[in-house]
Amino acid sequence: MQKHITVISRRRLLGVLGTAALAGNVWDRSTAAEEISYIDVHTHPGPFWHEQGIKELTLDDFLRWMDRNNVERSCVLAHVSPEGRVIPIPPVDTLRAARRHPDRLIPFTSVDPRADFGKVQDLVGMLKWYEDQGAKGFGEHKPGLPIDHPLCFRVYEACEMVGLPLLLHMDGRCNTDSPGLPGLRRVLQNFPTLNLIAHGPLWWASISASVASDAYPKGKVAPGGAVDTLMDAFPNLYADLSAGSGANGISRDRKFGRDFLIRRADKLMFGSDYLRPNQVVSQFELLPSFELPVDVRRKIYRDNAIRLLKL
Ligand SMILES: [Zn+2]
Repeated sequence: MQKHITVISRRRLLGVLGTAALAGNVWDRSTAAEEISYIDVHTHPGPFWHEQGIKELTLDDFLRWMDRNNVERSCVLAHVSPEGRVIPIPPVDTLRAARRHPDRLIPFTSVDPRADFGKVQDLVGMLKWYEDQGAKGFGEHKPGLPIDHPLCFRVYEACEMVGLPLLLHMDGRCNTDSPGLPGLRRVLQNFPTLNLIAHGPLWWASISASVASDAYPKGKVAPGGAVDTLMDAFPNLYADLSAGSGANGISRDRKFGRDFLIRRADKLMFGSDYLRPNQVVSQFELLPSFELPVDVRRKIYRDNAIRLLKL
């Protein structure tokens, strides 16, 4: 039965366990049956560019998707850098969406580091205004610049001063870095009280000490990757488990992945990167399949987001 449980869906899992309980099988309600609702820290409702045309993930469709998947609340991220998304999602849109659904949606704000916002102190004033409007975080920070570019340092400095956690995407084009992530290390060294939420192919490939050029590397993880060494060194470093990169990072070597989820339970957050209707989000099957202890699931599924974002 254990083997079967690892491959069936969460809803079916609950049904199977209920049947087992009725049949008198011994199972631990506290760890197996408790359904914990998610807080999704990484989503993008709104219009998007698809095969040379504009489509839209409407708020109504998005809320229905949340209901179907037991997602209680979602962070709606702004997207303002041209390299990150063809059709930008400005912060006014995320704030407006959250005003319409204050019990379900949590708005993030963002500013492209190349924008002419004047001095860092001026950006601090702007971010405080966004915070007054309801913004709980900054991101998705995804400019086509090195992660330790001086312009990005101005953004990090302002976010640190305001106290907004910053969610960033790392790949070969946006927030670029070298193997071992020395640029990210410099950011963390310079801004020790800025809470950073890392995500993206380059970040998750760095879970292994042997980083190939492949953005979605498969196979065994070599211990001692930059993800672990930086998380050991910097308590202000977090990560979200969203997108294909997050799923690949924890599933390519399931033994390592499960140990990592438990070892970093205070630093990881559930995320989907849901951005278009009918998008497959493998995390809904993958995370329950690890059969994590209930306290670990609570932290990753929702409690870390509540703590970090002050919800
Ligand atoms: Zn995203």
